[in-house]
Parts: sequence; C-alpha cells; structure tokens
Amino acid sequence: MRMKRVLAVGLAAVMALSLVACGGNKKASGEKTYKIATDTTFAPFEYENKDGKREGIDLELLEAISKEEGFKYEVSALGFDAAMASVESGESDGMIAGMSINKKRQEKYDFSQSYYKSQVCFAVAKDSKITSLKDLKGKTVAAKVGTVGSEYSKKMAKKYNFEVKEFDGSSTMYQEVTSGNAAACFEDFPVMSYEINKKGQKLKVAYTSNEGSEYGFAVKKGDNAELIKKFNSGLEKIKKSGKYQEIIDKYTK
Ligand code: GLN
Repeated sequence: MRMKRVLAVGLAAVMALSLVACGGNKKASGEKTYKIATDTTFAPFEYENKDGKREGIDLELLEAISKEEGFKYEVSALGFDAAMASVESGESDGMIAGMSINKKRQEKYDFSQSYYKSQVCFAVAKDSKITSLKDLKGKTVAAKVGTVGSEYSKKMAKKYNFEVKEFDGSSTMYQEVTSGNAAACFEDFPVMSYEINKKGQKLKVAYTSNEGSEYGFAVKKGDNAELIKKFNSGLEKIKKSGKYQEIIDKYTK
C-alpha cells in the first residue's frame, strides 16, 4: 500500500516535470506556427481527394521538410492568386502552390531552391482539331488569374489573335473547355497531364511551349528568410534520404 503511494507520487512528479520541460522547450525555441498558403485545385501538387482530404506533392513535401527542420505550420487553400496576395500582404508567411520562379516575381518574393520542373501547355476538348497556337485565331481560351500560363496566353493572344478569359481556379477553367465555352485552356503540363491521365478529364494536350519554369516555395521579399533557409535545408535532406523521390513517384507514377 505504502509502496504504491510512493510510486504514484513519484510518477506524478515525473509527469509534472516533463510538462514543465515541454513548455520550457516551446519558449526556448520561440516556436511559431507558420501560415502557409496554397492553391485550391492544382493536382498532383494540391487538391482535395475523394474523401475531402487535401493532399498532393506540395503538401507532402512541406510536411516532410517541416519534420526534418522541426517547425510547425498550418495550410490554407486560398487559390493561387489569393495565396500570392496573402503572402504579399503579410497575412501568410509563405506559399507552396506549384509556383513558378521568374524574374518578375523575384521582385516581390524570395524563393527557395527549385523543387520541380514544368512547362506551360494548352489543352483542348478530346474531339477538337486544334493543334497549334495558330489554330486559336478568333477563338476564346481560358486561363487562370495570376499564373504564368495566363501571362503566356495573353502574350500569344496578341500574336495569334485570340481572346483570353480568366478564371480563379483550374477546375472552372477546365469546365469552360469541356462545356465548349472556350476552345482551349492554358495550364502547366504536369498538372494538365495528371488531370487527363489520372482524373479522366475529357481534354487532350494540344501544344506544349518551350517556356520552362521551376517551382519554388515563396515568402515575401525580405521577410521570413529563416523559413526559406529551413525549406532549402529540409529539401536537401529529403532529397538525400530518398523521401523527395518517394513523394514525387507516389503522385506521378
Ligand atoms: N506554375 C504556375 C504559376 O506559377 C501555376 C501555379 C498554379 O496555378 N498553382 O503561375
């Protein structure tokens, strides 16, 4: 009886101590929960699966990197343009959304090392005869606000005489083409091919541009340098450990 009591008291003391230790650690590392913004639908980088759970390469990379580097974060799926705005305004600390690194954006954001290579393409309805930019003459195409695909389509629209209609999300942009309201949609090739081959989107890629782009994690320029450092360091570690390739293969094979 006595022995049990001693044990119980001892155990309680150990538990209390460990609680204090946890609290102490939190303070010591100034633990912060980073607010990370992402896109809504940009599969296989981020999307909602059949069970309503958000998943994708970007989300898994972030999770693996945060584990390596020991930081906390919470993700908000805001949409691509809205995610950029929230990083710019300081509402979000960073974003991961298949975001292409380019000179113009580097004036406003600091990027991590590249974690994926991509190119802009355009897709058309399965029965469409369109195979080139020339064939888009006089037609209306769909693009997503704020993306490099949209920028590219606007540049080509001037040269080849077609109209660009912009949408906030990729899903509505695809619908515009499958419903026959637009002749084509401009999207990143890995995303378009995933939609077609893995999700049964009734579209086909008609043209892929030579314009390459690399995806990076972004923060507001001059802010959150430590987060970029952590991302880069974690990325390097998961590339070495094979975790990076495991994540990519899971979604692309
Ligand atoms: N890679 C493209 C860009 O950065 C599209 C990103 C997206 O739609 N999520 O503009």
